[in-house]
Order: sequence, then C-alpha cells, then structure tokens
Amino acid sequence: MTEQTKILVIGANGQLGTELTLALQEQYGYEQVITSDIHPPKQQHALFEPLNILDKERLTALVEKHEITDVYLLAAILSAKGEQNPMLTWQVNIDGLMHVLELARDGKVKKIFWPSSIAVFGTTTPKQNTPQETITSPTTMYGISKLSGERLCAYYAQKFGVDVRSIRYPGLIGYKALPGGGTTDFAVEIYHKALEGEVYHCFLKEDTVLPLMYMPDAVRATIELMQAEEDGISVRSSYNLAGFSCSPRDITEVIQKSMSDFDAVYEPDFRQKIADSWPNSIDDQQAQEDWGWKPEFDLQAMTEDMLLNLKKQKEAVSAANIS
Ligand code: NAD
Repeated sequence: MTEQTKILVIGANGQLGTELTLALQEQYGYEQVITSDIHPPKQQHALFEPLNILDKERLTALVEKHEITDVYLLAAILSAKGEQNPMLTWQVNIDGLMHVLELARDGKVKKIFWPSSIAVFGTTTPKQNTPQETITSPTTMYGISKLSGERLCAYYAQKFGVDVRSIRYPGLIGYKALPGGGTTDFAVEIYHKALEGEVYHCFLKEDTVLPLMYMPDAVRATIELMQAEEDGISVRSSYNLAGFSCSPRDITEVIQKSMSDFDAVYEPDFRQKIADSWPNSIDDQQAQEDWGWKPEFDLQAMTEDMLLNLKKQKEAVSAANIS
C-alpha cells in the first residue's frame, strides 16, 4: 500500500503543512509527496507546485500529472484572520474543500484528509470535556466554515462513499513554522519572546483555558487516522482530539521554571471573544476507541522540547550569520 500512495499536500507552507510534509516524506518517501501552496516556500524542502485551491482546473491537472492518490487539504484562512475577511474565508475554506471532494467523487483521488477545528463549538456548547456529538454554534466565519465543511465531509462519505477523514484540532504549537493568524498563536509566540529575552504581550487574559496540542502529536494523529482501517472509522464529520488544556499563565509559569527572568503581560484584544466561545477541554474517547489515539506531550514536556529546539535554531542562525 505504502509504495502506491502518492500524496498532494495543499497549503503545505503553513504551520501544520511544514511539519506534516516532513513526516509524510519520512513515511512514504521524498518523491511520493508533492507540496503546493498559494505562496512559494521559504525553503525548498519538498517537490513543490504553485496552486490556488480556488483554481479547480489547475488542481485537477496537478492530481492527474502526479497520479495523486491522497490529498491533505490544509489550505485555509484561520480564525483571527478570517474575521478580517469573512467572504474570502468562506471561499477558501468551503469552495476549496468542495473542489477536492468532487475530485474524490469522480474517482480521481482515493483518500482525503481535511482538518476541522475546536472553532466549530460555540458559547452554548458544554465547555468542559466537550463531547464528540454536542451543540455546535460557532460565532466566527472560520468556525461556521469548519462546521459546514464537516457536514460536507459526512455527506460525501455517506452519499458517494468518499473516504474523507478529519480531526478537530485544538490549538497547535510547534517550533518549525510560525502560526498563520489563529486565536491560539499566543502559545507559539510566547516561547519565541522568552528566548529573545523580552516580555510577552499576550492578546488573551491570563486565565483563558484552551485545549492545545504539541505539533508532533498532531502530525502523528493525522498519519495514524489516515492509515487506520477504513471500517474502523465511525466518524466522517470530524473527530474530537485532545492533547492538554492550559491558560497563558500556565505556560508562562512553566517557562519561568527554567527562565526565571521571563514574564508576560496580558492585554486582551478582539481574539479574547473568540477564545471565550471555545471549549476548555475536549472529550476524545471516540478517537481513542476507533483508531487508538493517545497523546504523548503534556505542557511540561512540550515546553522543554520547544525551548530546546528554538534555542538550537537560534544558535544555528547566529552561527550562519558569523560565517
Ligand atoms: P496556516 O495559516 O499556517 O497555513 C495555511 C496555508 O494555506 C498557508 O501556507 C497559506 O499560504 C495557504 N493558503 C491560503 N490560501 C490558499 C489558497 N487559496 N490556495 C492554496 N493555499 C492557500 O494554517 P495551519 O495552522 O497550518 O492550519 C492548517 C489547517 O489546520 C487549516 O485547515 C486550519 O484550519 C487547521 N487547524 C489549524 C489549527 C492551528 O492551531 N494551527 C487548529 C485547528 C485547525
């Protein structure tokens, strides 16, 4: 199976795509992974084709040219950015998904991964241990598009037998790429500021508890779900997935354990309202049962790994600038 899999990652230059592409190359081989994005890559670490997901003709041509079997559709406008341009958010997040679902309906691709988000929940959703099936009442255009996308995935799976798989990611934190305009970007920025020796000005209140996940867990979950036996997949809308939950103050305190000079100030902006509409914690029992999901990183383990790797990156940049 592995030799025949040919992958197209769309939106590959983003926070998730950068890391997922490397992991897919490791699993399937460098030549088996084609990356694409509306913007050219900063560093060429993969076979790349420019693509605007709104251009269905070009998408179809790329799928045919490279004999793609699996599409990972990551291109999206995220929650905070989405509020600045709701129309574009709907187009990229929904028309883009429809283009890929239609390709699968036509038998041109075999399997699709499409991420949803905890943004599908809303102020009336139970906040603690938010269940898989519950009230979904999103208040952002991003959340509305993700909820609509979930229903489209379930519809194409049920009606046309399309093998589409999805995860409702919590806020993702990684060191290999910067985040792209979401409400949990603070949880990445804070580590960069700590290593730059600066005070972090956090755009959320200190006690705002949100579900988060370290990128290696998110990448592993994605690949495990895509490799799971088809008949074990009982959820075709999108799986709840949990890593750990914490507040900006919790992150600050864990960083301070190894960097006692570090501090943060809390200056909430429009993103506070978005964060307040999201759950505090997620019940992911269905993912555990269906495909054996289990996270490895908690806040402490993630912080140690983030600081270690960001420090290494900084040292490598300084060394390159000197030579
Ligand atoms: P990102 O903003 O970092 O990356 C998105 C990429 O899509 C960018 O490289 C961008 O250039 C590209 N893109 C935008 N418009 C495009 C278009 N029209 N055609 C082609 N490419 C386009 O986002 P991310 O954090 O990597 O998120 C990836 C996916 O995961 C998204 O669907 C997002 O909704 C979902 N998700 C992310 C998080 C998170 O915390 N990062 C949480 C939940 C869900």
